[in-house]
Amino acid sequence: MEEFQDFLHFGLDKRITEAITELGYSKPTPIQSAAIPLVLEGRDVMGAAQTGTGKTAGFGLPLLQKILSFENTSVSPARHPVRALILSPTRELADQTAEALTQFASKTLLKVAAVYGGVDIRPQAEALRKGVEILIATPGRLLDHLEQRNTTLSQVQMVILDEADRMLDMGFLPDISRILSRLPVSKQNLMFSATFSPEIKRLANNFLNNPVIVEVAKRNAAATTISQELFEVDETNKKDALAELLRARGEDQDGNPLQTLVFVNAKITARRLARLLQREGFNSDSIHGDRTQEERSRTLQSFKENKVNVLVATDVAARGLDIAELPLVINYDVPLSAEDYVHRIGRTGRAGVKGLALTLMTSSDARNVSAIEKLIGKTFLRQKIDPVPIRRRYSNPRFSKSPYSYKPPVTEESVDPFFDSPYVPSRSEKRIVESEVGPSKDKYVPRVSVLLGGRGKNS
Ligand code: AMP
Repeated sequence: MEEFQDFLHFGLDKRITEAITELGYSKPTPIQSAAIPLVLEGRDVMGAAQTGTGKTAGFGLPLLQKILSFENTSVSPARHPVRALILSPTRELADQTAEALTQFASKTLLKVAAVYGGVDIRPQAEALRKGVEILIATPGRLLDHLEQRNTTLSQVQMVILDEADRMLDMGFLPDISRILSRLPVSKQNLMFSATFSPEIKRLANNFLNNPVIVEVAKRNAAATTISQELFEVDETNKKDALAELLRARGEDQDGNPLQTLVFVNAKITARRLARLLQREGFNSDSIHGDRTQEERSRTLQSFKENKVNVLVATDVAARGLDIAELPLVINYDVPLSAEDYVHRIGRTGRAGVKGLALTLMTSSDARNVSAIEKLIGKTFLRQKIDPVPIRRRYSNPRFSKSPYSYKPPVTEESVDPFFDSPYVPSRSEKRIVESEVGPSKDKYVPRVSVLLGGRGKNS
């Protein structure tokens, strides 16, 4: 694969190259070197690349070049039909892609918009009715707009299925098929996917026309810049092990906290773990499907601004997050699918930056870990970890001072009926608890043991 040293070789319009110079892009990434000439040639492309490789510019720059001739100053919506459609699995990825495309197109008259569910449809409808040339959409919300006749796709000449594997995982195939059936037959089609299941191959066969396959990393293999480690833990001390790893490995040489993404398998774990870590002194917050779009955006922004250092996330919520140079990913739960493991650790070691991925494994994860090892073609060394229990840390002066200060805003939605309700002791414990904390419920401060899952005083 030819590697280009700069963006001038592609023959892109000056306004596009100026915009990317302003963004600080000087050398194309491998996926950009490979994909840009092919897309400019008009070929259908199947890109084996995950977020973090620079794929957005890989399709975004040639896309702009190809529709640039349609830019105009007219205020008539009819003069600004959708020319390029990018389908995204999540709101976050749609937002990030729209932000990137807006920057690439900043010196042109082309208009960019993103539409996705979970937010008021009306402002989106208004933007669509005014006309946009480049539309980024999640499938369900796009269908809503099409039903409301807020836009039409009859002039689309380029379609991109971004993170196609994730869209299939999320059950979007019927929606995607409905959208594709409303597009002109003659158009250029691109598809990006980090993993290649038989379903993805089938979709590619149906959707792409004599495609060129562009691979930037070995299929289903994690980027080589990521060091991966595995720790065997007991279910009972998983939280302790996480806190220990965050302390031992979650700081840079100067003792500053590293931006860390912690993956869990369930929304409720995300919420509880983030709260537990806050109480442990970490600047943590969670991002999961039960939080409103506004909360997710705010949390993501805080993470990007280093106000939150430890972000606990579910797979779906973390999908597509573009956080430059994320140094550390921790799998608190082993993912149920091996391909999710590749996606998760792909959040670190991005764009050539070295990353670290740590995974906690309990005895019940053996089968899933074997599946991961098979997929990535590597056997983990099973390391042991002997964490200081969280409850004992409170009396240990070594842990009494915390460099962290961030307290995420407590919102209505984040109230957890289990975690936030006062501990109700069992009858046998009642006497002791009352004598410790006093009979008034108002003054009751939840015990740490309760935070660990409602265990009794002496457990
Ligand atoms: P993507 O995989 O498209 O989400 O891009 C990952 C990150 O790499 C984004 O923050 C981009 O702004 C950045 N990026 C993409 N291409 C380049 C490039 N050629 N030079 C420097 N940074 C880039």
